[in-house]
Amino acid sequence: MANKLKKDKLKTAIFLGAGASAAEGAPIQTNLFKDYFKLIRSRDRHATAEHERELATFFALMFDIDVDNDNLDKALFPTFEEALGVLDLADLKNESFKDFTNINFASNSGRINFLRLYLVYLMADIINNSLRTSKNIHRDLIRKLKSNGDLAKTIFISTNYDILCDNAIQDQYPSNKIDYGVEFVNYKEGSFERPDQDSIKLLKLHGSLNWLYCPTCNILRITPYEKGVYKLMVDPSSSYCRKCETVYSPIIVPPTFYKDLSKVFLSQVWNRAENELSEVEHLIFCGYSFPDADIHIKYLIKRIQKNRRNPQSLKITVINNHTGKKAETKDEEKLRFKRFLGNNVNYTDWGFEDFAKKPKIVM
Ligand SMILES: [Zn+2]
Repeated sequence: MANKLKKDKLKTAIFLGAGASAAEGAPIQTNLFKDYFKLIRSRDRHATAEHERELATFFALMFDIDVDNDNLDKALFPTFEEALGVLDLADLKNESFKDFTNINFASNSGRINFLRLYLVYLMADIINNSLRTSKNIHRDLIRKLKSNGDLAKTIFISTNYDILCDNAIQDQYPSNKIDYGVEFVNYKEGSFERPDQDSIKLLKLHGSLNWLYCPTCNILRITPYEKGVYKLMVDPSSSYCRKCETVYSPIIVPPTFYKDLSKVFLSQVWNRAENELSEVEHLIFCGYSFPDADIHIKYLIKRIQKNRRNPQSLKITVINNHTGKKAETKDEEKLRFKRFLGNNVNYTDWGFEDFAKKPKIVM
């Protein structure tokens, strides 16, 4: 009886990394720019949007890539982090590049800030396009967890901006029972139910494509089932705050973005993640490779591992295999997890799809 009681209370966290979305068809980070410019070419439009032109100029001047004429499969694009990183650091230090300036008295200044925003739009565009049809792996996982009676004991932490997990949870709970760990203006309006004890927790550490931020009112709006950020890009004139008419901003924060306007809301999410994770006994990484650059996440995981009464009580499982994954890649990855988190790490041969079919949260 005592044993059963303990088992019922056992909490598990499923940590969804980029690999979980890639399993559904999202582009992997290394192909992001290539896929995006292929998409732009395939659209065959007469007038290119301002942000598309500006992005093309950015890659031409900063990385010597002609996105209109070069062979995109052979072009050597920077990583998303590198492209954003140079802009972010220039902005942080209030410095300029010769062709891309910070705000000054010249009328065409401030290109750096526009480009940061355009890179976020680029990501929204390519995610939106690549996930038009998905393999429903997230849906399978949530459905299975619910039918096993495990969903209520599970919390979700995600580094992904897409809304695959959001939609999968909402399908099972049509009354919008998701607790994102932040306050939305929708609660007051009654357009999204305020979370309660039974809500499923989904903490999105890097923001989300269905969140819109008004920098004037300092409020956050959720656009359920809809990627509000994508709509913002296609039709900014229809995406303004109902109260003050300011055009919304996205909250999409790549790992190396240290400085961001919307930090208030994101730090709430991070605090909440730490509080929730500190009570979890089993942490399952799905599609996450523990990259060196993610020091903020490593810091979070270290804290919740060591700041508990019994650090050995946290079990860690890694589910990050996929067909064609090289043995040496697996070995390196396993070493990264073990070196940082110790021998309690169970590095499995499972992929996200296998796990979704048979989610075992008690190991
Ligand atoms: Zn407003």
